[in-house]
Amino acid sequence: MLKHRPEPSALTGYALNPLDRFSAKRDDPAFLAALAQAPETLWYVIGKDRPALKITESGPQALFTGEEVAALGRIRESVLLGRDDTHTYFAGLLDDGVIVTREAADEGAFVETNQLVIPGRPDILLKDLRAIIMESSLPAHQIGALGHAKSLLSWHARHRFCSMCGARTELASGGYRRDCKACGAQHFPRTDPVVIMLAVRGEDCLLGRQPRFNKGMYSALAGFLEPGETIESAVRREILEESAIKVDRVAYHASQPWPFPSSIMIGCIAEAVSSQIEIDRTELEDCRWFSRTEVETMFARTHSAGFLAPNPAAIAHHLLYAWMRRETPQF
Ligand SMILES: [Zn+2]
Repeated sequence: MLKHRPEPSALTGYALNPLDRFSAKRDDPAFLAALAQAPETLWYVIGKDRPALKITESGPQALFTGEEVAALGRIRESVLLGRDDTHTYFAGLLDDGVIVTREAADEGAFVETNQLVIPGRPDILLKDLRAIIMESSLPAHQIGALGHAKSLLSWHARHRFCSMCGARTELASGGYRRDCKACGAQHFPRTDPVVIMLAVRGEDCLLGRQPRFNKGMYSALAGFLEPGETIESAVRREILEESAIKVDRVAYHASQPWPFPSSIMIGCIAEAVSSQIEIDRTELEDCRWFSRTEVETMFARTHSAGFLAPNPAAIAHHLLYAWMRRETPQF
């Protein structure tokens, strides 16, 4: 355990994942096979990018025994997540053929409302991880493990063929590699870095709104880091592109695993050195300066225009909250 808890990253959604990843044992296939078969091993299950939940009288459960997993249908890939003091944990990817999609009646709705079902298993729910975190229906460490499982299995689901020669690849090293037997290439799971940042100038910070956001919500600007960029240059470029605001110094504050499908959000504070905004309308519906006092009312849900802070599952919430309390790096 860390001495100074909680560090800023630990407050973000999907971040709590204290499993010992046990990486020294990943390259021992006989050991892994025995572990996967062991009756005390527990499983998380992902089907078409959604965690499988067992509906029980005491609420939804994310963990399955090996026997329960086998009864769900064909598991296409299995990965080792890690262990804690009591159990070892694997995650399994359900074959798409096991799952039936029921299109939602309200087509064109804001949220994805189609239902994924396993025929004959009304006790199993395949639920979007974002909905699970919003409902707080599972303990935080299980949400972290599900994010880990989802990112890794989503990568396997999308990398079945070698990007060098086109032949089929096979899972290796407990799920942390795919090997191509045809050309010998080894492929490793990706994590795509995204910078998310708050440009600040004295008592003001810069927030924007995408059209898909919930009504009234403003958040930190964000964008993918591109090849050849440092985190600092990506922050400066993204802010300039989206708002025309110029930035000088950049400081790291916290990060968040973002399993949609496999990103890491890198949260930064940026020192704005200009104030005239020009909004990039292809990205943003609005972008404006908010004073610290105004941000306080957004968190308190008392803002006169009904503006709201981002949801606590998002790192933007914690970045903004820490800046409001003067807990982020000062320029
Ligand atoms: Zn190949």
